[in-house]
Amino acid sequence: VFSLGQNVIVIVPGANLLLNFEDLKRASDVICKAKVIVCQLEITPAVSLEALKMARASGVKTLFNPAPALADLDPQFYTYSDIFCCNETEAEILTGIPVGNLEDAEKVGCMLLERGCKLVIVTLGAEGCMMISGDEPIPKHVPAGKVRAVDTTGAGDSFVGALAFYLAYYPKLSMEEMIRKSNCVASVSVQAPGTQSSYPYRKDLPQDLF
Ligand code: ADP
Repeated sequence: VFSLGQNVIVIVPGANLLLNFEDLKRASDVICKAKVIVCQLEITPAVSLEALKMARASGVKTLFNPAPALADLDPQFYTYSDIFCCNETEAEILTGIPVGNLEDAEKVGCMLLERGCKLVIVTLGAEGCMMISGDEPIPKHVPAGKVRAVDTTGAGDSFVGALAFYLAYYPKLSMEEMIRKSNCVASVSVQAPGTQSSYPYRKDLPQDLF
């Protein structure tokens, strides 16, 4: 962790890569009855994709976070994502365009949207997020509040987790409002050291988030 809270992460996949299609089948009842599924790439990509397909077939909202990013991501990940949420590094690996500012984020957001997802969110660290969707093709910046970051490790997961919560429990909120609230949750997590240990409990968050 550097002085402004930015981080470098080492991944040790361990048991994650043992999760297989059989395991998915065993979990199909839970997956198909869920309100939202969150998938990413810390398990075997083909298994992650199959989970998205199972969820989509049952009308479950699909939220995909391409982390850690793969340059040759199977294009079906786009078409099976209702929401495709990536950070700047992941966006660059997927599109070849470095994301240094909001304009770049808008450009990569458009490119990713064209690949077939319904809505793209690019998280921009302290700057919050950029969102763009097929329904609202004008990119929108949703800023994060100013906070003193000490450790941003896990901020992306905190954001995605919060967004899944709002999609499941407050589905009537606008996407912009869900993103604004998720920015708030994630910005709390960057003010404490560690990853899981930095995630706030509901009781410790501003109650107007609920
Ligand atoms: P990742 O952890 O995947 O690199 P980001 O750094 O883009 O993801 O952060 C994800 C979200 O966490 C941001 O969209 C924002 O809501 C919040 N966040 C991250 N860094 C800060 C910061 N310095 N100040 C406020 N919020 C932040």
